[in-house]
Amino acid sequence: MPEGDTVFRAAARLHRALAGVPLTRAEIRWGERSLPDVIGRQTLEVVARGKHILHRIEGGITVHSHLRMEGTWRVVADDRLRPGELRGHAVRAIFGAAGYIAIGRKLGMLDVVRTAREQALVGHLGPDILGDDWDPEIATATIAADPRPIGEVLLDQRVLAGIGTMYDAETLFLERIPPWSAADGLGEQTIRRVVDRAHRLLMIGKEHDIPTTTGSRRRGEEVYVHARSGLECRRCGTPVRVAMIGRAPQDRTMFYCPSCQGGLAPHDNGEQQTPLGHRRTRKPYR
Ligand SMILES: [Zn+2]
Repeated sequence: MPEGDTVFRAAARLHRALAGVPLTRAEIRWGERSLPDVIGRQTLEVVARGKHILHRIEGGITVHSHLRMEGTWRVVADDRLRPGELRGHAVRAIFGAAGYIAIGRKLGMLDVVRTAREQALVGHLGPDILGDDWDPEIATATIAADPRPIGEVLLDQRVLAGIGTMYDAETLFLERIPPWSAADGLGEQTIRRVVDRAHRLLMIGKEHDIPTTTGSRRRGEEVYVHARSGLECRRCGTPVRVAMIGRAPQDRTMFYCPSCQGGLAPHDNGEQQTPLGHRRTRKPYR
């Protein structure tokens, strides 16, 4: 699932291709939803809010999209378009301007709203970890008062927007914190360290195609624990484990090292886990 840095990069790509020039093509393919006639109008800007993308068009129109699990926005020069690329049910939105075309595929959400009404879609979000108005003090104070497991709180976009399962797991590993510890028992200093660490990781991520928390962008070396269950911890050699965190149906996978992070998850029976992709893998990866 794309995290805040990936979404930020997608919005920046769309902004570079579309902003400040009139739209030559604008289409959404999402059930009955339709777009007002915006051909000839300029894109004012495309911005990310947490994991949401807001495409603001002259005349007070905003196209809101969310990548959810598999969504992408591809931007390509008109003459580099692959045959048939604009066909198929995976294509949900198309915008063209000044020789470029942006193709939204498998988007998880797509809405058209008045720009003045954007808050109805993104108003619930907490401080954006990659936003211009990022304030670690607010995020720290909110998290420090939350009784839920820290690994669950960091994923809650109402608390802090932009972190997904990968940066959640990696941040807690780097700070040696058990993901299931109650956030309100960790103390403000520790929470502040966690928040700052996550912020640093995402700030680095937004500059690069391949996110890394280890500093290496070589395939298979990019992360410490995320999606590495059954493999050796890079720090101590103990097998990395995976367990679900949060309440169903919002529960998500959490990868962690029981040695570096202080024990097993409360509902992890410790039985051997096979690496992901292995035939006996039992846990979904999302
Ligand atoms: Zn370890």
